Amino acid sequence: MTPQQRLVDRFCRYVQVGTTANPDTDQYPSSPGQLLLGKMLADELYAMGAVDSHQDLNGLVWATIPGNIANAPTILLNAHLDTSPESSGDSVQPVVIDTYAGGDILLANGNSITLADTPELASLVGHTLVITDGTTLLGGDDKAGVAAIMEIAQRLLYSPELPHGPIRILFTCDEEIGRGTKHFSLAKANACAGYTLDGGGAGNIDVGTFSADMATVSFRGRNTHPSVGKGVMINALRAASHFVSLLPRDSLSPESTCDREGFLHPYRLDGNVGNSTVQILLRDFITDKLKEYAETIRTAAEKTKEMFPGLEYDLAVIEQYRNMGDVLRNHPTAVELAEKAFIQLGRPFKRDIIRGGTDGALMSALGLPTPNLSIGQFNIHSTREFASITMIEQAIEHMICLLGLWATTQGN
Ligand SMILES: [Zn+2]
Repeated sequence: MTPQQRLVDRFCRYVQVGTTANPDTDQYPSSPGQLLLGKMLADELYAMGAVDSHQDLNGLVWATIPGNIANAPTILLNAHLDTSPESSGDSVQPVVIDTYAGGDILLANGNSITLADTPELASLVGHTLVITDGTTLLGGDDKAGVAAIMEIAQRLLYSPELPHGPIRILFTCDEEIGRGTKHFSLAKANACAGYTLDGGGAGNIDVGTFSADMATVSFRGRNTHPSVGKGVMINALRAASHFVSLLPRDSLSPESTCDREGFLHPYRLDGNVGNSTVQILLRDFITDKLKEYAETIRTAAEKTKEMFPGLEYDLAVIEQYRNMGDVLRNHPTAVELAEKAFIQLGRPFKRDIIRGGTDGALMSALGLPTPNLSIGQFNIHSTREFASITMIEQAIEHMICLLGLWATTQGN
């Protein structure tokens, strides 16, 4: 079996383990499939000769590939086991297209991935692609990263001539619902830089993420029987909908912004006459802007209170993650060596930013600079998701080259 065939087999095996994250439970991890897949990976890492391969009490998978160059620094590679709850991840049926010939791709359930909705397809002619039957997501986000790291581990362990320092492997759980680093230990990682393999397409080095907070506004009204509501009832549900209508829509919203613009995103409303709650995501590349957005929310809540005499409200804002760009600027080696490896391989690349977060953003904030790299994902979180095996293979070559470059630098 060629390494590329092994990669295809590996990827298809991993996507068939359902690992959909469940935001409606406090259990960790939030779905049993993540434990199942994690156990599979820990066993495979052990079998291929990785050191200290284990699944910890929280379901995170850790392993080490010993270095073969004295004093080379330890590098962490991480990917996440869960898939997005936005589309079903049950009974994923991967279908391999050995050599994509171009044009629209018809899925088994009758839907299509078209050039019109996915223009990137035009540049993928000749690639090996993996699609689904159209009823589920694929889970290339982030099993592409998982399969790549497993393949990198195997190739390094089986090819002692490839130079590298110690490699720390980490598979996290529940990244898609913001809990990927809840049980991450910086001391246990014990690395001097990291790479998250969780990006779209090929050749992107994500050096910035949003900074993110979440606001919860809780309104307390007064419920009565509707027959005797006159002058007494204070409808918290009506108040919440008024409040949402006061938030910016033609600007500072996901529907109206792109690139480096931030937004306020009311994404969940629960309630009844007596009590209602609105949850709002605050996002911007400039961390200080989040304070302004919180003020916009407070102003809208105050106006709502004026409009509904007797209404009470609470506003709580919690920090979610911070733009990793600030950390990576101060610790530039991880990004510079990633660029150098692309140059050595003669491949195009670019620095990019993500309108979202990654596990690496939280690891960077803790002091471990961890940019995010492309791993051949497309149309993530949707039933039109697919992955390019050709790009995953290229990312593996890039990482092996990059780890070789790290081995030439001074140690931890
Ligand atoms: Zn992901």
